[in-house]
Amino acid sequence: MTRILIVGAGPTGLSAGVELARRGMDVTIIDKRDEASGFSRAVGILQSTLDLLEASGVSDKLRQEGVQVRGVKIFDQDRQVFAFNLAPDSNDENGFLLCLPQDRTEAHLRDTFVALGGDLRMSTVLEDLQQDQDHVTAYFGAGKSEVFDYVLGADGVRSTVREILGIAFNGFDLPEDWSIADADIDGWANPDTFVAYRLAGSSIVIAVPLSAIRVRFVSNTADALASLPVQPKVSNLRRSGTFKISIRQVERYDSGRVYLAGDAAHAHSPAGGRGMNLGIADACAFAECLVSGQLDAYGSQRHAEGAKIIRASETARKIATARSGVGRFAFFSVLRIIGLFPGLVSALVRRFVLR
Ligand SMILES: Cc1cc2nc3c(=O)[nH]c(=O)nc-3n(C[C@H](O)[C@H](O)[C@H](O)COP(=O)(O)OP(=O)(O)OC[C@H]3O[C@@H](n4cnc5c(N)ncnc54)[C@H](O)[C@@H]3O)c2cc1C
Repeated sequence: MTRILIVGAGPTGLSAGVELARRGMDVTIIDKRDEASGFSRAVGILQSTLDLLEASGVSDKLRQEGVQVRGVKIFDQDRQVFAFNLAPDSNDENGFLLCLPQDRTEAHLRDTFVALGGDLRMSTVLEDLQQDQDHVTAYFGAGKSEVFDYVLGADGVRSTVREILGIAFNGFDLPEDWSIADADIDGWANPDTFVAYRLAGSSIVIAVPLSAIRVRFVSNTADALASLPVQPKVSNLRRSGTFKISIRQVERYDSGRVYLAGDAAHAHSPAGGRGMNLGIADACAFAECLVSGQLDAYGSQRHAEGAKIIRASETARKIATARSGVGRFAFFSVLRIIGLFPGLVSALVRRFVLR
């Protein structure tokens, strides 16, 4: 039987594991962590991702636990300038963005992988890879090694696999700090709505509901909560911190029998909420290509898709953070005009954002 090693038990590695294991493949996932990450980064799960994880039953579990976000509001400071529903019909089965903390998404993927008979080994570090025409030998330290038919590097933005393969990660890093805060808010007025605040200069804060009371705030300022134009009543600050953003993509997604997926292959800003979704799509494409004997197509297909998403995310980030008065004026003028056509807005969002 074909033996596959997946390096990294994040959403990308786990999705690849689930998709391969459910098709009867012999899959091992390793991760250098002792236990699952409690660090919740991604929140939004797109309809296209739910479609991909439907066959394994993971999507049903995500839907049961996640919050369905059905509306969008945009504020200029504390003044609401734009609001619309993702679907004109509030009962529309697909007219929402599903929001769930990343650690919960990973928990459902992990449970499903193990239930399908997958081999998950934590506290296992990939140190080196050597390959010939038929096999790849993976070295795990302390003299331990194992032979596999294929390896998928889903080991995140500082990928060891990418480094071992010597594949360039071209792009640049944004100079500013971004910030994140997860907080329980008393009387949060938007429990099923995505809210974006344009602040002075080029600053923004995004608020995304994670439950009826828990809200995720992300900002391109150093303190997302403090930057809000009206201070909410925080009953419990679960987590806050800052992070840097890179805009990068590998020059190629494969080398011999070793492949890259997820953040190991691409990085971009949270604008558009695509990072985890793109990684899961890479993972499912890898599984499909492997099972159908078309691995040759994987690299070029995913490179093109990744480049497209990075371009779209960069366009969204630049529009949302335009510094000049002209840029701000154009941003709000366009919103006011398209606000006159709510049906068109819903259609565009469903076509270009949710899928
Ligand atoms: C603040 C923030 C907010 C975000 N919000 C969103 C959002 O709303 N929507 C969205 O789609 N995306 C979002 N993202 C991006 C998303 O979190 C990432 O794209 C996603 O986690 C990538 O998953 P991955 O599995 O590719 O990599 P990771 O989640 O980084 O997993 C990689 C795993 O590999 C393991 N590993 C690394 N090296 C080795 C080694 N040598 N041996 C063994 N194991 C190893 C690590 O321990 C880790 O568990 C956000 C990111 C941040 C920082």
